[in-house]
Amino acid sequence: MSESAIRLRGVVKRYGPITAVDHLDLDVPLGTCVGLLGPNGAGKSTTMRLLTAQSIADEGDLNVLGFRLPDESKQARVECGVVPQLDNLDVTLTVEQNLLVFAHLYRIAHADRREAIERSLRLAKLVDRRATKVDKLSGGMRRRLLIARALVHRPRLVLMDEPTVGLDPQVRQELWALIDGLRSQGTTILMSTHYIEEAQRLADTVLIMSHGRAVAAGPPAQLVREYAGQQALEVYGPPDRLAEVEAEALAAGLRTRRTGTSVSILGVDGGRYPADGERRPANLEDVFVLLTGEQID
Ligand code: ADP
Repeated sequence: MSESAIRLRGVVKRYGPITAVDHLDLDVPLGTCVGLLGPNGAGKSTTMRLLTAQSIADEGDLNVLGFRLPDESKQARVECGVVPQLDNLDVTLTVEQNLLVFAHLYRIAHADRREAIERSLRLAKLVDRRATKVDKLSGGMRRRLLIARALVHRPRLVLMDEPTVGLDPQVRQELWALIDGLRSQGTTILMSTHYIEEAQRLADTVLIMSHGRAVAAGPPAQLVREYAGQQALEVYGPPDRLAEVEAEALAAGLRTRRTGTSVSILGVDGGRYPADGERRPANLEDVFVLLTGEQID
């Protein structure tokens, strides 16, 4: 068995003139949670679709749980749990019935089905809702059910495409707790997200994508040290003053980023900088903006 749950090398996917995934290398070691982080259009969903063989790569090697894609994609899928970005639950069925359909699809032996469903219900904290029709569930519960459904057959690898997109912050926190629980039980997870905090909190390793390419990969803390240093200086002021500060920082060989009404000067560790501002620890958002050029919404 390979050490990696996922290993991609030189993967390319084109849509006409657009190269959605451009010579991507990706490793997901067994037992880790890897976050695919990037702005909209970076190629995250395309990468997820390649991994589930919903799309076929134009070039490159794809290996999932020791199976080569696309030739052995059926074998790989049996051992994967997939949490889609779009909710495709059957709204005419109850929570339990939705899980039962997947227990059948994944050919869980009849004798094991009940326990598999109960385990999934417990994991997603939906035991009390087992008999509720899906169209009566809140948005957060539906998301939890989507995750529970992907886990019903105890997959060795879980693929989550933007698991908390469009949810309010409180529901997002609930899902983070659920995903973090899976991670601490040793489930291997690949998760795409454009929420930096989500990647920072949940991922052991983050791969930052931009225009189909991997622009950096590593544990969040390491990426921060490597690209943004230890400390940043946040300088507030009117636009003219901020432009001046940016020019001065640039002349001093420092990197900056605009954050609404302020400028962050990165990598000011230890040294002095001739501007008044608030020092703060550098963070993954600094790295993201530096590498992708994208502001966060
Ligand atoms: P992300 O998930 O990071 O937002 P996507 O993988 O959805 O990015 O998209 C990457 C690029 O590929 C974008 O430019 C997008 O418009 C393009 N793209 C994705 N899917 C298709 C498709 N089916 N047909 C044409 N272009 C596509």
